Amino acid sequence: MSAEESKSVTRRQFLETTTAATLGALAESQPASAASEPASGMKYRRLGRTNLKISEIGLGCASGLRSHQLGPELFNKYREELPAITNKLLDLGGNFVATSASYHDTEEILGRALKGRRKEAFIFTATGKRDAAAVIADCERSLKRFQTDVIDGYFGHGGFSDGFREAAQKLKKQGKIRFIGMSCHIPDQHRIRVEAGDVDFIFQPYNYMNLAKWTEETDEVSTEDLFKLCKQKDVGVMVIKPMTGHFVPNWAKKTDDPKVAAMIKKLKVFGKQNLYQAFLMWVLKNPNVSCAIVGMGTTQDVVENCAAVEQKFTLLHERLLEQYASLATKDYCRMCETCVSACPAGVRIPDILRFRMYHQNYGHERDARELYAALPSHQQATACQECHQCEQVCPARLAIARKLKIAHELLA
Ligand code: SF4
Ligand code: SF4
Repeated sequence: MSAEESKSVTRRQFLETTTAATLGALAESQPASAASEPASGMKYRRLGRTNLKISEIGLGCASGLRSHQLGPELFNKYREELPAITNKLLDLGGNFVATSASYHDTEEILGRALKGRRKEAFIFTATGKRDAAAVIADCERSLKRFQTDVIDGYFGHGGFSDGFREAAQKLKKQGKIRFIGMSCHIPDQHRIRVEAGDVDFIFQPYNYMNLAKWTEETDEVSTEDLFKLCKQKDVGVMVIKPMTGHFVPNWAKKTDDPKVAAMIKKLKVFGKQNLYQAFLMWVLKNPNVSCAIVGMGTTQDVVENCAAVEQKFTLLHERLLEQYASLATKDYCRMCETCVSACPAGVRIPDILRFRMYHQNYGHERDARELYAALPSHQQATACQECHQCEQVCPARLAIARKLKIAHELLA
């Protein structure tokens, strides 16, 4: 969960809303959640040809970027919590932390948090730079921030370039990094680098909403095929956005929305089954996945997430996810960016839909408006010519042109 969510509705509050508080006392026969019990049974998987044995749950730090966007109060709250979150993860057997040089000072915070516990964690970090000299300079800074001699996994953030490969291979020869990878949202971009043998691991978004029945077309096939290719090439797969990119509680807090009210009512049958754990369990059912990387805002999130690895995915979990997805799918942008290149007008569709989400779902109206105002006018929703070409390629078949109009009304 990202720190920004804590301002509107926390994961804990959401679970309470959908279970005890809203639904009354639970039947004794309902399965108990492991949410409040410390996990002692962390599980580990091999990360492809790196041969690292990494915990099934890892810590991601994109929340730091988002909370910074949403103002100093939330940003500082997140920064203050991060050391405790990191230590809790290690205490529960987690051994994987990932961030990026561009996620503000998360590298420094993690570096301080890991002091004295460096050997307990694999450090993965990234650069968005594509030029070889700039990549090397970024990596040197990351080593200092982490207070370490070696970064276990170094990856191109949001893509890969020949310059990154050249620099990463040099850094590897120098012993400053151990393994090379990339992150991005588009399976085909990963595929190119996996096939070329450039990467030891990838960070790919993947969650229950990828299933064909929720995306109508491409997501499931392309992502599953990518994972099979990774297996074949022995490339490690780390999953990002396993819980759909923090969409869940914010959407569900709108209890005056009839659809949300209906969902909460239907969730009654699931008792204490934890929606977040269900998302994680679903991702980890895939044997081609090594680790689910989760942004966590509190130590309680860490406890709940780690507890998910000990549980068995049941029909109840499946139904819980189905219930959520059937209500959320038509409004859920996967942030896959597939629509960007299809738009002749150059509208920044994923950004605008994300700002709309901040406004509508997170309740951060002022910040959302500021972010929208910072977009150049030719990339704002008013540049849309309503040609609907984006909707033809969107894997979720979202009504993008209509959503852009709504977004502009909210944000302008
Ligand atoms: S409908 Fe608007 S946003 Fe979509 S492709 Fe056409 S111009 Fe771009
Ligand atoms: S609107 Fe559709 S294609 Fe564009 S980023 Fe969102 S999910 Fe992807």
